[in-house]
Amino acid sequence: MKRKLIEYVVCPECKGNFTIECFHNDGIEVEEGVLLCDKGHMFPIINGVPRLLPRHLLNELIKSHPEFINRYLDFPVKKARNTNMTIKTMKSFGYQWNKFDNMYDFWEEEFLDYIYPIGKEFFSNKLGLDAGCGMGRFIFYGAKYGAEMIGVDLSNAVEAAYRNNKYNEKVHIVQADIYNLPFRPSTFDFVYSIGVLHHLPKPKKGFESLLPFLKPKGDIFIWVYGKASHTLWQKLRKVLQHIQHIPYSLINSFSFLIAICIWSFFIIPNRIRHRLGLIKKEEMKFRRWTFKPFRVVYADCFDQLSAPIAFYYDKQDIRKWFADNGLTSMMIASRDKNSWRAYGRT
Ligand SMILES: [Zn+2]
Repeated sequence: MKRKLIEYVVCPECKGNFTIECFHNDGIEVEEGVLLCDKGHMFPIINGVPRLLPRHLLNELIKSHPEFINRYLDFPVKKARNTNMTIKTMKSFGYQWNKFDNMYDFWEEEFLDYIYPIGKEFFSNKLGLDAGCGMGRFIFYGAKYGAEMIGVDLSNAVEAAYRNNKYNEKVHIVQADIYNLPFRPSTFDFVYSIGVLHHLPKPKKGFESLLPFLKPKGDIFIWVYGKASHTLWQKLRKVLQHIQHIPYSLINSFSFLIAICIWSFFIIPNRIRHRLGLIKKEEMKFRRWTFKPFRVVYADCFDQLSAPIAFYYDKQDIRKWFADNGLTSMMIASRDKNSWRAYGRT
């Protein structure tokens, strides 16, 4: 955690200011420590990331980092309440993004495609929030184009995001809950959320929880699944969800097998036919994977199968999200005919 982040974050419980108590730093970043608010609420900084989760979710964090707690603190936690699905989501994306944390150059092209009609020139000298930053593949480009960026994620994916963006002076990573973000109101020039809201228990509420943190005339852009998304994935995911306590290692193996099939029956034939001039890119099945490494196909298969919750929307649903909240300059565009990119302004 860079000390500058303290200017932007507040205590998620009382909205008070924090001070940092540093236990260990590497010269630039606070690697281990605590954030303490004026009212005495305490939150850990573990592996360089401040963990500003609601108190009942800190239980899960403490389970995954017992060494920090044993070393430094007798940490106060509350008993969990009705958070099964939230905890499942936390675990699922934490597992996914720490396993598939590769940074590829083609994420840049993907990022620009997801945020259409926004372009590179938009970002310069702005403060932005990446809501659901995963392993930090897109926040990297927000910063590269000139914005100071704060990425939040509910899961331990923040550790991969931190590794992938460490020492980038324009990137800050925070573990936090979208429904209870630890920032001052009207902080950000823009907020984006790519592939995240449809995995929340209440996606529209998640969208609305981002808006108070935008400055007046602030920009928001999102990408969510469309109703035309692959129905086969939906069916497979539902089957897996009916199996209680299915280990991630098994979903992982299953994803690997599906990826092998897609690779063998579609990707390799696509590449051969393309080289021979027999097929155009836009005619290909699975074209978004055709020129990417196998590991990306494998990661996307895992993503499709492992998320505990997924909602699918038509254009009218998304239009309503924006209209109900009085957003202006609305633009909604289809992506690959199976999902929605939407832009609006406060
Ligand atoms: Zn507090």
